Order: sequence, then C-alpha cells, then structure tokens
Amino acid sequence: MSSKKKETRKRKREDVLEEVKNCKQRGGIKGTKYIGAHVGIQGGIWKAVESCMEMGGQSFALFLGSQRSWKRSPLDPTAANKFRDQCSQHGFHSAHILPHGSYLMNCGSPKKDVFEKSQALLVDELRRCSLLGLSLYNFHPGSSLGTITTEQCVDKIAAAINHAHRQTPAVVTVLENMSGQGSTIGGKFLELKSIIDKVRDQSRVGVCLDTCHAFAAGYDLAAEGGVAAMLDEFHQVVGLGFLKAVHLNDSKGKLGSNLDRHEDIGKGQIGITAFRDIVNEPRLDNIPLILETPGRPGFEYAEQIALLYSLVEEK
Ligand SMILES: [Zn+2]
Ligand SMILES: [Zn+2]
Repeated sequence: MSSKKKETRKRKREDVLEEVKNCKQRGGIKGTKYIGAHVGIQGGIWKAVESCMEMGGQSFALFLGSQRSWKRSPLDPTAANKFRDQCSQHGFHSAHILPHGSYLMNCGSPKKDVFEKSQALLVDELRRCSLLGLSLYNFHPGSSLGTITTEQCVDKIAAAINHAHRQTPAVVTVLENMSGQGSTIGGKFLELKSIIDKVRDQSRVGVCLDTCHAFAAGYDLAAEGGVAAMLDEFHQVVGLGFLKAVHLNDSKGKLGSNLDRHEDIGKGQIGITAFRDIVNEPRLDNIPLILETPGRPGFEYAEQIALLYSLVEEK
C-alpha cells in the first residue's frame, strides 16, 4: 500500500469513529438501542470488550472458545475475572452480551455420538457463561440431517436444553431462528415454539431473531411494514417475552431462498429501509442488536454501527 493511500484510509477511519462517537451518544441519550457486533477473542477473552468499545458498540457477541474442537482447555479463572472487570468498568450489562455457541454442536443430531458430544459441549459452554458473569447463551437449534422427523429432532433439542439446565445455574439458552437451509430446525417460528414448549424452565429459554435467516426463510422484511409484520407474527406464534436479541444481517440470498449468506447492512436483498425500521422499533428496545455481517471486525463494523445509529430518528 502506498503511503498516500494509507493516509487516506487513516483519515477516513478517524472520521468514521468520530461519527460513531456522536451517534453513540445520541443512542445513549435515548438509551434504548444497543447496537454492536460479533467480536474476536484472539489474545484473551477480555479483549472482546475493548474491541466492542473501539467500534462504538453498545452490545457484543463472542465465541467462548475454538470453533474447531469438541474438547477445550478449561477457562482460565484469571482471564474470566479480567473479562468481568472489563465489562463492569465499561458498563456492559450481561443482558447486552450474547455469546454464540460452537458451530460443531448439533443438539438435534440423530447420531448418538454427535448428540452426546453436543449435549456435553452445551453444558460446558453454559458453565463458561456463568464463570464470565454472562446471563445469555445463543445457539443454532440443530439439524435432523434428514434421517429423523422434525418432531423427533425437536424432542432431542429440548432434551439437551433440559439436561444442560439441570447441570448449570441460571444462564438463559437463546435459540436462533434459521434460514431453513437443508434439514436445519428453526426456520419457522412454529418450530422454535415447539422446542420452547418442551423446555421445563421457561424462564431460561429465549429466541434471537437473525434478520438474514428470517428473510431467507420467507419472512419478507423488505416489504413495506415487513419488520412490524414479522414481529407481529413472532408475538402471535412464540411471544415477544421470549425475544432476547436480534442478529442484524442483510442477505445475499433472495426472499425464501433458504440461503444462509450474510451481507453488509443495506447492501443485500433486505435493504436499508428494513434496518431503519428495526432501529426505530420500540419492541426491539433494550436488547442486543448484533452485526454478523461479512465486514471484518474493526473498521467495517464501526462504519455499519455508525450507519445504524444515524438511522435512529429523533422522537
Ligand atoms: Zn445469526
Ligand atoms: Zn447465519
């Protein structure tokens, strides 16, 4: 990169961060929209807090360990304490932090060994949440792999959740709606509801709505009033009391395409109008609104957070 180009990029980044700071203050005064992003944990789990601050976020998501292995070394208590300290020092409440579960996990798997490993990993992850002072834990419900019925798969997922609840203290398990790709469960709100119905402790189950997944599954957020219509339907089928978080992603795939392919905000098939509606929707107050767009953590996320805060209308 030439030094001239470097200079331009640096200035632009500073401008954007300044803009985020201003927008964040506006959001902070309203105190209702907690926009943030999925941040990395390289170099130590407590670094997630710093990364979130750098991009002007008011909420964040993070993985709790490696995405590649079933077995993980135990969480270092010093690292956990550092994370808790950082959160309290910078005023991040646990209701605005949404750890994301391992992609290896399939709590609905028809394969006995995978189901058992998934169940054990779920317990391990909820324990990590407790050590980190976190109260929410988001994961993809699971997949039938096409060899068992949806109902059998739902039973397995609920059994894994109930088992994990018995093994661990008060963390809330947050099911994510899916795009309906392949034989994954949770593309339809009704499937989420059928899992929730089988969870014994209803105070410890919730939903995270992913906008890309919802759109790909056929909920038309791009239509006029689409966001409100989706929330109405969610309330009818599941109940807004269960809504704990939103994943903010535009979609590369078309409406109903079942494709789980995230796009940067305003650059995909959903479009900017839906995101304006989201940041002005009172039913989405006080919950984490988390970006999982292709933009790499850092500059691009800061830009998108600034963009979203700039869409918040003065009341
Ligand atoms: Zn998501
Ligand atoms: Zn996704």
